[in-house]
Amino acid sequence: MKYPRLLEPLDLGFTTIRNRSIMGSMHTGLEEMDGGFERMAAYFAERAANNIGMIITGGIAPNEESSSGGAMMSSDEEAEKHRLVTDAVHKADPDVKICMQILHPGPLAYSKNAVAPSAVKSRIAPFVPNELDKAGIQKQINDHVKCAVMAQKAGYDGVEIIGSAGYLISTFLVQKTNLREDEYGGSYENRMRFALEIVEQTRAAVGDNFILIFRIAAMDMLEGGMSWEEIITLGKALEKAGVTIISTHFTWHESAVPTIATMVPRAAFTSVTGRLRKEVNVPVITSNRINMPDVAEEVLARGDADLVSMARPLLADSAFMRKAVEGREDEINTCIACNQACLDHTFSGKLTTCLVNPRACHETILNYEPATEAKRIAVVGAGPAGLAYATVAAERGHKVSLFEASSEIGGQFNLAKTIPGKEEFYETLRYYNRMIEVHDIDLRLNTRADAETLKAEGFDQVIVSTGIKPRTPDIEGINHPKVVSYIDVITGKKPVGQKVAIIGAGGIGFDVCELISHSGPSGAVDRDVFAAEWGVDFENHPRGGVTGVEPKVAKSDREITLLQRKESRVGAGLGKTTGWTHRLTLARRGVGMMNGVEYVKIDDEGLHILQNDQPQIIEVDTIIICAGQDPLRDLYEDLEAQGLSAELIGGAYEAKELDAKAAINQASYMAAAV
Ligand code: NAP
Ligand code: SF4
Repeated sequence: MKYPRLLEPLDLGFTTIRNRSIMGSMHTGLEEMDGGFERMAAYFAERAANNIGMIITGGIAPNEESSSGGAMMSSDEEAEKHRLVTDAVHKADPDVKICMQILHPGPLAYSKNAVAPSAVKSRIAPFVPNELDKAGIQKQINDHVKCAVMAQKAGYDGVEIIGSAGYLISTFLVQKTNLREDEYGGSYENRMRFALEIVEQTRAAVGDNFILIFRIAAMDMLEGGMSWEEIITLGKALEKAGVTIISTHFTWHESAVPTIATMVPRAAFTSVTGRLRKEVNVPVITSNRINMPDVAEEVLARGDADLVSMARPLLADSAFMRKAVEGREDEINTCIACNQACLDHTFSGKLTTCLVNPRACHETILNYEPATEAKRIAVVGAGPAGLAYATVAAERGHKVSLFEASSEIGGQFNLAKTIPGKEEFYETLRYYNRMIEVHDIDLRLNTRADAETLKAEGFDQVIVSTGIKPRTPDIEGINHPKVVSYIDVITGKKPVGQKVAIIGAGGIGFDVCELISHSGPSGAVDRDVFAAEWGVDFENHPRGGVTGVEPKVAKSDREITLLQRKESRVGAGLGKTTGWTHRLTLARRGVGMMNGVEYVKIDDEGLHILQNDQPQIIEVDTIIICAGQDPLRDLYEDLEAQGLSAELIGGAYEAKELDAKAAINQASYMAAAV
């Protein structure tokens, strides 16, 4: 057995978890959608049928104060809807456990009725919460207990109570959000009281044979957050109060340390869980950036945890654990930690899905059924859109030829993978290379398909995924030798000077800036470098892991200015959950950012601009153009001229929407229908 620790059952006394893998909690938006429970049932059942050990649902609010109009379990009617989910999971595999997460956001509720131990507004919340009086506290405890009892009636095997992230329970624990002077505030014993009463009373209400998980912030990444002693004290007290399992979390949402973005090293935080594991006698769960079975196995082998929680990796590939069990890990569609289609969607009120797997949360809508008639399909261009189309069409039984002019598949992914912190794209390329073998796709590298050849081969269908060409802005002097395209910079074809201006501050402008301002070796950073750059002290664990620790970011050797014409803040269009990390990193490296700029001309002096109608010259050696793209449709036009029908996908279809998420999504839906 390749992953002996990951696949080892865990005996909880009254029940057994079949292996050490947990699909972690993630709000998807299905919870609130019409017909969402049917879709949620299919979503979870697919993971249950593929060897996951235990599933934890997205957070469900225990009462009105905590719901902000979202999913709630406070009545029999609401509980009944969950039967669809629990029945579907247990039918898919009776050995799989499913627990419901009870989430009371406290001050993070999007509501004027938000409640908290004290009226302390979170940096990221819209409202000042209402301070709970004693009766209010008792009500919150009762509602948690009632919610757990209803979850039990609804067929769940357990509940997870979230006591981290800046949600209600955690705000009782931390001094700066709990200013109370009664028995729920002041001393740490008092600040723990709320959490412990919830656990004790829940245990008493649900009986012994029900899984009760409590999620704690084992490192909350807050200045003045919880000390290590407080965490251990809480862990021991929770154990005494009756939890079955302690789950570790590593942040509050308002913290300024990234904990799940792609630049976070894999399994960066598990040693913290490992330290806690030595102090308690109940199993502990670890999480964050564990995205392949070998990473999970190493974490367990180090003794860092008893169970490994993976939320996004299970969105990216519902058969993650089946592939691990069957030794087919090279077929895993790996989560690249981009957040673009999951958390960025969640926090923008959109339905969660996955950039690399558009079926996630769409299991009842997007299915790759066997084709009724196998067609011969030519896909021209092996970038994200072409790869997704070819893979889905071939999986369905079509005979696919995939043409690629360069010597390797990947298109724009090959640029992305070289950006520091984006190394996970190598996994996506590994996945597609393997899918090409598995589905017997006729891959023709170094082959520029032309209309004549395609016509001569008599394909039933031609798909043009020839991608994009970088846009050249209409600026006087644009052909000056100082000017280079982002592609030439990323591929290393053109040198970059010491003083640099970057025209265009979209995703690629930021990527290029990251690349040329980065010092140190290329490749994924290790945990120590990450800790130093973000000001985290894993060894001494000061309060929150960060108190008094200054981030140490090396200033860029280059003098760089990133420019855009829009008046909005530079980088405002980046991903909601990750944009801030890029803005902060570049600012710490000393990169200048200018908005509301008008480009006047380029000459030997540098880049001439107007800002607020004031002329300025930015003296530079190199000007890198990152001004978006235009579709590359030469082949499509040739095919049309020859009277051959073809379909455009990806950047060749719509360069404005060029991003891997849109490209893979569009290609997958089209290939599912061909
Ligand atoms: P983009 O996001 O559309 O940005 C293009 C930039 O060029 C904008 O800042 C725009 O700002 C500027 N621009 C557009 N036309 C211009 C012109 N004629 N002259 C001068 N400036 C011009 O495009 P991108 O950066 O090339 O990214 C392409 C796609 O890949 C996007 O969909 C992006 O989301 C995706 N991507 C995402 C990431 C990520 O990490 N999430 C990373 C890389 C790429 P102004 O008009 O204000 O000047
Ligand atoms: Fe992972 Fe990105 Fe998919 Fe989210 S969208 S699950 S981060 S690959």
